[in-house]
Parts: sequence; structure tokens; C-alpha cells
Amino acid sequence: MISLIMGLPGVGKGTQAELICDEYNIAHLSTGNIFRNTMKGNSVLSKELASYINRGELVPDDLTIKMLKEEISQEKYQSGFLLDGFPRTVEQAKHLNTLLSDMNMKIDNIIFIKLTTEEIMKRLSGRLTCPNCQATYNKYFSQPVEIGICDKCQHQLITREDDNTQSIKKRLSVAKEQTLPVIDYYKEIGKVIEVEALNKSIDKVFSEIKNMVIDQ
Ligand code: AMP
Repeated sequence: MISLIMGLPGVGKGTQAELICDEYNIAHLSTGNIFRNTMKGNSVLSKELASYINRGELVPDDLTIKMLKEEISQEKYQSGFLLDGFPRTVEQAKHLNTLLSDMNMKIDNIIFIKLTTEEIMKRLSGRLTCPNCQATYNKYFSQPVEIGICDKCQHQLITREDDNTQSIKKRLSVAKEQTLPVIDYYKEIGKVIEVEALNKSIDKVFSEIKNMVIDQ
């Protein structure tokens, strides 16, 4: 199964992606995670990525597509995957079509999670992330059992560098301008499953996604 999970930053794509991948036994392919792992090093590429990401800008299409292609060629993605955070521009969506057709694959479903900007601001400004396993928490409404420590892998939690107010605002405006048109692009060809996340628990959103994926 090839699925896409889309939505503005902070709607819970990463959290839902983990649940979907466990449920359907598919690999999780997150461009944000690929970039963050690369940024752990001290290379020229790491600094180049940080210069975009920490300011809340998109990594340029050519670099993003190059890194995605390298990642996707791995064996673990050959039997299906969930793409999280890609495509973020219409240009990337067009490249994805070519990439998938070269791999004899096609998109089975596109999950679009919706949430208000106000709620997104709340979630992102309180977000705590595990740099080791990427699990997320929130200092206002979803703390780990032990403050500051990841429940899943016991690693120290951090606030992502791009989760500061200025970056969050920039990421939201970039996403509205560049990523929402990708949703419209996919709506024209069908397959978009829309899920409203406001006032719903993680489990509720997940069960709605499952029902809709099965219904398709
Ligand atoms: P995410 O973890 O998906 O929120 O991504 C974190 C950051 O990585 C984004 O704010 C962008 O700077 C960058 N990024 C992730 N995916 C893409 C993409 N498909 N195209 C360009 N930049 C991306």
C-alpha cells in the first residue's frame, strides 16, 4: 500500500503515521525525519539543511527530491510505505508521479488531516520531541510519564529548533501558500480522504482514518 499523509504543520501527521504504519505493516517515510537525521552530523549538507529548516522555510525541491530518491531506493520501501511530509509543493507531487511510475507503483490513498490555525499554534508551541525515536508530546496537554523523558525510549526530550513562534508562523504561511495547492491538485484526481482533527483524541482520529481507508 502506498499512502500519503498530508496537512499543515502540527496537525498530527507524524503521530498518525506511526499508528498507520504499525496497523498496516508498512514503512514510514518522513522527509522531515530524513532531514533531521542528516542534520545530526556536522557536514556541509547538514548546515545547508539547517539554514532552511530552522527558519521555517522549505528545503529546495531539487535537494528534497534527490534525498527522497536515495531513501526510497532502499529495500524496506519496496513493498509499500506511508509518505509523511512529502510532497509539499506541486512540483514535488509531479516528481512523485514519475518516481512511482518508474517503480511500477501508484498512490492508493491520500489522507488529509484538517485543523484550525489557532489549535496548530497551541500544539506546536508546546510540542516536545524525542530526537531519538521522533515520538512527540506536549507540555500543556500530553506530558510523558516522567517529565522531559521519552516514554518509548527513555531519551531526553527537546523542543525542535523550528518550533519557535517565528518559525511556526513562517512554516504555516509557507504551507498555506505551497502545500494546500498540492491537496487541490490531488482532489482533482480523487483519492483524498479528509479527516477533521479538532477536539478529537489521537485514537479517534486514527479510527476515522482506518474506517475511511477500509471504505475506499
Ligand atoms: P516536518 O517534520 O515534516 O514538519 O518537516 C520539518 C521541516 O523539514 C519542514 O518545515 C521543512 O523545512 C523541511 N521539509 C520536510 N519535508 C519537506 C519537503 N517535502 N519539502 C521541503 N522541505 C521539507
